[in-house]
Amino acid sequence: MSKRDYYEVLGVGKTATKDEIKKAYRRLAKQYHPDVSTDPNATEKFKEVQEAYEVLSDDTKRQQYDQFGHAGPQGGGFGGFDGDFGGFGFEDIFSSFFGGGGRRRDPNAPRQGADLQYSMVLSFEEAIFGKETEIEIPSDETCDTCHGSGAKPGTHKDTCSHCGGSGQVSVQQNTPFGRVVNRRACEHCQGTGQIIKEKCTKCHGAGKVRKRKKISIKIPAGIDDGQQIRLSGKGEAGANGGPHGDLYVVVRVRSHEFFERNGDDIYCEMPLTFTQAALGDEVEVPTVHGKVKLKIPAGTQSGTEFRLKGKGAPNVRGYGQGDQYVIVRVVTPTKLNAKQKELLRELANGGEDLHKDHSLFAKLKRAFKG
Ligand SMILES: [Zn+2]
Ligand SMILES: [Zn+2]
Repeated sequence: MSKRDYYEVLGVGKTATKDEIKKAYRRLAKQYHPDVSTDPNATEKFKEVQEAYEVLSDDTKRQQYDQFGHAGPQGGGFGGFDGDFGGFGFEDIFSSFFGGGGRRRDPNAPRQGADLQYSMVLSFEEAIFGKETEIEIPSDETCDTCHGSGAKPGTHKDTCSHCGGSGQVSVQQNTPFGRVVNRRACEHCQGTGQIIKEKCTKCHGAGKVRKRKKISIKIPAGIDDGQQIRLSGKGEAGANGGPHGDLYVVVRVRSHEFFERNGDDIYCEMPLTFTQAALGDEVEVPTVHGKVKLKIPAGTQSGTEFRLKGKGAPNVRGYGQGDQYVIVRVVTPTKLNAKQKELLRELANGGEDLHKDHSLFAKLKRAFKG
């Protein structure tokens, strides 16, 4: 088999510049790479291109080739091309294709759109009862003028001449381990392999436009601070016909002046005068479900907890209903008139007897004795 002319192999003229040779080589190496080419003789052609480039890209070798042809100056030819190109050879390129961390993602393949996150602030009551609302979020949506292609309607895309439509270019790097060939996305076509000749006037070639989209959301009753709701398919539009991403609505619940939430239960502190605590009373307690009457038994201590069953938040997953806990605080009066003070002194005279049943006083007494 007679050897083809190196210039012919690369498809360049005898006067081609180094840059032209390099470009031609890159295009052909890509085209005939055995990993991507469907040509049955790809391996042979790939080697042939490698060999031609090795000679024509080297000034001395090119000069010798121009003068002597394939025979070379000493008649020995330019043999030994099977992988020995002074560091840049078939194997270098191959290792980067095969071992270089796996295949690149095809930029033209369908891709799911980005997920979006939206933070929503709810009042204490809104979180407990839930609500239906509409939110407006900025999102990249498929351009309806070009249907996402980015090209002006009626025009078509051209194959990128820089990468020959593959969307990738090879870059040689010298490393301490030898020469490595890396592939990266072609920057002329952003890795798509196609160039938009006439851009869509609405999206300027992006295929997407920024829109504010309205989404209705049903906030479930009983949701709590920090919980999130996932709305499937309500994220950004996908690329190349891929599905939409998801929307995550993160809920923030404002704190309440009187109530405090702990899971499905609600806590509050209820002030009592010491006469109410001592004599007992019936008081009205606010709950998120309305006022509730609570019986305070005589002799109630400060800090006593009362439970109002079912007056908490509904469980967000539908497992029943929380309770409300009322913690009473006996408030000591600070402004007493002379008459009130007199009455209290009278009461205090019987002090020990009055409190002798209380365990704290009993403990105190024992401590003094001990
Ligand atoms: Zn468009
Ligand atoms: Zn390109």
